[in-house]
Amino acid sequence: MYPECDRMVEAAKETQPAGDFIEWLREEKHVSLMVWGSWQDLDPCTNMACEKGYIHFGHDNNRPCPRCEGTGLITVDREGYVHLGVPLDQLLAQWKAIDLVKVEAERRTMLEALRAGAGA
Ligand SMILES: [Zn+2]
Repeated sequence: MYPECDRMVEAAKETQPAGDFIEWLREEKHVSLMVWGSWQDLDPCTNMACEKGYIHFGHDNNRPCPRCEGTGLITVDREGYVHLGVPLDQLLAQWKAIDLVKVEAERRTMLEALRAGAGA
């Protein structure tokens, strides 16, 4: 009647201890789950002559810096380890191919059935 909930309960035999272990790693060993990722940062312009996006050639002769196009900032590509960014319950559900949206829908149906039963 609630197949995805049943699958989740069955999977909990493995996901519960795995989740406890990951929590223990985090709390006791300060271990975080990280993945290699890339992102962009805005850094101050690296042109030595650039002052807030402009190059001064003398009195009243300021031209936009060609490197930052007058913004004073340049986009820099970076890469490194970043936090996984997936909550533990979702990660464990992914591991066992549990659809948490279906689980939530089944729970709602279950609650409605209980309320209807209580009201009858
Ligand atoms: Zn510049």
